[in-house]
Amino acid sequence: MSGGLLSGGASVGRRAQRGHLAFGRWRIPVRRPAAWTVGLAAASYWTAMSPFSQLLGPFPYRGRTTERVVALTFDDGPNDPYTSRIAELLAVSGVCATFFAVGRCVERHPETARRLLRDGHVLGSHGYSHDLRRCAGRRVLRDEVWRAEEVFAEHLGVRPTLFRPPWLLRTPALFDVAREQSLQLVSGEFAHVLEVRQPSPERIARRAVAKVRPGSILIFHDGFDAKGGERASTVAATELVVTKLSAQGYRFTTVDRLLGVPPYQDAAQCPGVHGGGASRRRCERAGSGSGAPGAR
Ligand SMILES: [Zn+2]
Repeated sequence: MSGGLLSGGASVGRRAQRGHLAFGRWRIPVRRPAAWTVGLAAASYWTAMSPFSQLLGPFPYRGRTTERVVALTFDDGPNDPYTSRIAELLAVSGVCATFFAVGRCVERHPETARRLLRDGHVLGSHGYSHDLRRCAGRRVLRDEVWRAEEVFAEHLGVRPTLFRPPWLLRTPALFDVAREQSLQLVSGEFAHVLEVRQPSPERIARRAVAKVRPGSILIFHDGFDAKGGERASTVAATELVVTKLSAQGYRFTTVDRLLGVPPYQDAAQCPGVHGGGASRRRCERAGSGSGAPGAR
C-alpha cells in the first residue's frame, strides 16, 4: 500500500489562532497549543506523503499532455491469483500497464512477474520489503532500493528506472538515493482512497473514472502491503475502468512513455529474461503511446 487519507492541504488561519484547526471549510475546535501541533503534523504529512506535494523534490503524479491518455499502475504485487487475472483482462483489451512490484513479492511469484514483462507491461520498483521502518534512514533506504534492483535483475533481467516509494513516503534521503541510482520517482492519484480496503468494484471504478484527466496516473493495488491479500474488487474495477475510459476515447500507456524516460536502466545488458519487446510494441499500437515529455 502507499499513501494515505488526506487529499487536501491543511491551513491554520485566523480562526485557528483562536483555537480552531481549519481543513478547507471544516473547522475543528482545539485548544491553542494543540492546534499548532496538529497543524504542524498535517503539514508534515502533506509534505512527505501526499501524492501531490512537490516540496521535497519532483514527484510527478501525471504526465504533461493534452491527449486523452492515462497510465494504470498497480502497487504491492505480484500477488496471485489477482495479478494474473489483471494481466489476463488487460491482454484481452490490448492494454499495457505499469506494475510497481515489491522485491520480496517478485521472489515469491517470479513467473508472474516474467509474464507481465512478456505481455508488454512495464515493471517499476516499489522497494524490497515495503516496510515503513526501512523508508526513512538513508542507509536502510539505500539498501532497500539496491536489494530490490538486485531481485529484479536476478529474476527478470532488468533494473527498473521507475521507483514509487512505499506509502509514497518522501524524505530528503530518498531524493539523494534516487539521484545516486538514476531512478525516476513516480507518484500518481489513488483510484479510490479506500481501494486497499476493497469497496465494491463499482465504487472504485466510479471514483477512478471521475478523477481521470489527460495524462493521469491512476494507482491501484494488486496486493496489500506486500503481504498478498484478497484483491477481487480491484480486478473487477480494473475491467470496468478500462471499459469506461475506452468509451470516453482514452488510450492507455505506461508511465515511462508518459514521462518520457527509459523503463529500465540496463535492459540491453540483460536481454535474456526480458523478452517482452514484441509484445510491448503490439500493446503500444493497441492502446498507448503519447510519448508526452516531462511531468508535473
Ligand atoms: Zn505500496
